Amino acid sequence: MATKKIDLKAFRIKSGRNRKKYTTFLKGLHSRKVKQLTAKAKKLNDLAFKKIDCLACGNCCKTMTPTWQPADIKRVAAYFKMTVQQFKDKWLYKDEAGDWMNTKTPCQFLQKDNKCSIYEIRPKDCSGFPHLQHTDFLIGREVNIPNMTSCPITYEVVERMYKLVVEKDATVLND
Ligand code: SF4
Ligand code: SF4
Repeated sequence: MATKKIDLKAFRIKSGRNRKKYTTFLKGLHSRKVKQLTAKAKKLNDLAFKKIDCLACGNCCKTMTPTWQPADIKRVAAYFKMTVQQFKDKWLYKDEAGDWMNTKTPCQFLQKDNKCSIYEIRPKDCSGFPHLQHTDFLIGREVNIPNMTSCPITYEVVERMYKLVVEKDATVLND
């Protein structure tokens, strides 16, 4: 059975409305000295991945670009029997920081069913996204702040963490 698509317009409205509140919360989280913060974050991460199906979303591939490392470019170019230069010329540009990024969004490898046509050899940045599995949640929150308005899984983790820490609602760890 096909997964029901996530309503990304409704997600953008909800996450935009709460962006400021959750950004302030994440920035001040270190001063709250939450016990076992990273273990709790891991639990919330697992719950979010169980609840939200990336194939029903695809928003990262639709609206963001991965950072292509040299090894990624070499691997994927070889798959298409292209040289590194041909691959760069066709799909990438170098940003101000010197990183290789997609020229266009949605990503050229995203299919209509939200699957990645190069899934097995996709860039490392893609396979690690949304980068929630940090050994220290306080370090990881640096990427959660920009990602929570683009990625429903990140938003879910941040929202539940807010309920847990600020509203003292421990039930968010259970379902
Ligand atoms: S390479 Fe695949 S996983 Fe990465 S952004 Fe493109 S479609 Fe998404
Ligand atoms: S990682 Fe986040 S933005 Fe990307 S498809 Fe999954 S839920 Fe959507």
